[in-house]
Amino acid sequence: MKITAIRTHLLEHRLAVPFESASMRFDRRAHVLVEIVCDDGTTGWGECLGPARPNAAVVGAYTPWLVGTDPLETEKIWARLYNALRDQGQRGLALTALSGIDIALWDIKGKYFDVPVSTLLGGRFRETVRAYATGSFKRDGIDRVEDNAAEVARYHAEGFHASKIKIGFGVSEDLAVVRAVRDAVGPDMRLMVDANHGYDVLEALEFGRKAAELDIDWFEEPVVPEQLGAYREVRAGQPIPVAGGETWHSRWGMREPVETRAVDILQPDLAGVGGFTEARRVADLAALHGIRVVPHVWGTAVHIAAALQFMASMVPNPVRVNPIEPILEFDRTENPFRQAVIKTPIEHDQGVVKIPDGPGLGIEIDRDALAEFRMRDD
Ligand SMILES: [Mg+2]
Repeated sequence: MKITAIRTHLLEHRLAVPFESASMRFDRRAHVLVEIVCDDGTTGWGECLGPARPNAAVVGAYTPWLVGTDPLETEKIWARLYNALRDQGQRGLALTALSGIDIALWDIKGKYFDVPVSTLLGGRFRETVRAYATGSFKRDGIDRVEDNAAEVARYHAEGFHASKIKIGFGVSEDLAVVRAVRDAVGPDMRLMVDANHGYDVLEALEFGRKAAELDIDWFEEPVVPEQLGAYREVRAGQPIPVAGGETWHSRWGMREPVETRAVDILQPDLAGVGGFTEARRVADLAALHGIRVVPHVWGTAVHIAAALQFMASMVPNPVRVNPIEPILEFDRTENPFRQAVIKTPIEHDQGVVKIPDGPGLGIEIDRDALAEFRMRDD
């Protein structure tokens, strides 16, 4: 089998109400899918984390090293592509683009052997995962305290056991939001916070010390990802477990945060860290150092399906009678193409998501949806 073509599909949707994290404003949702076509007609799908057009450009740049190669040789291809941009790459777009390609290659491999990717990775430890609801952004022109409290109360009513709240807009306002959410949902729902690296160290310490009484499971990206010393200061100086990793790519990007224990919970993204090939190595690295892994997810159902296949294969750490189970990040914000791009949407039932068990990623792409949500040229 040989690769004959690589295509990118740029998708977008203009939001009815724009929203913000601490570090980014969203007036649209935009994601890019990668399609790899083989000479026997097999097609594999992947997705890249981050900005759609730049990712598509880098996927295009990798194409000459892909056409004519055997798609089953995932390690050889990974090494060749990484090396092709190593001197100017190593992280960022070089890795997010490589991730989309690697996911598509594993989809092809699963279809070739007629098994899910999770079986190729060593087997399925679980058939379902509990999901946590990601939302609670700052929406334009809407009071954040009331809005987020009502939003998380809805997730609670839908059966989600946990939800993540966006912070990093200012310590006192953030504390008011988290208090209001806790009051709205009661003591049992798990709550996490995500500063999207919007704080400096002093703000992060103040927030963490004051918010700890609200029973927060983790404090995600408290400070900018380049400042690992600052991460360690936040981890040592306040009581909430620190999480991070969505912007650290490849085993080399993960090594220092893991080895110096900058985080309690590592969040590799399948569509950013380097696909299945590299996520497996990163999970092993984390396990070696006793650090919990909860994959990051922000994309379409292709990205979600990749995360689910990987999560199915994650080895319990430690192995015990009632193991600590991974939980799925499940974005609940406005994005009509998130599930429309596949023929059978990946939905939750009382906060639980079934892991697809068909060949490859276990999904079928809906090409009508790709046409409907195709990015315009403006
Ligand atoms: Mg995050």
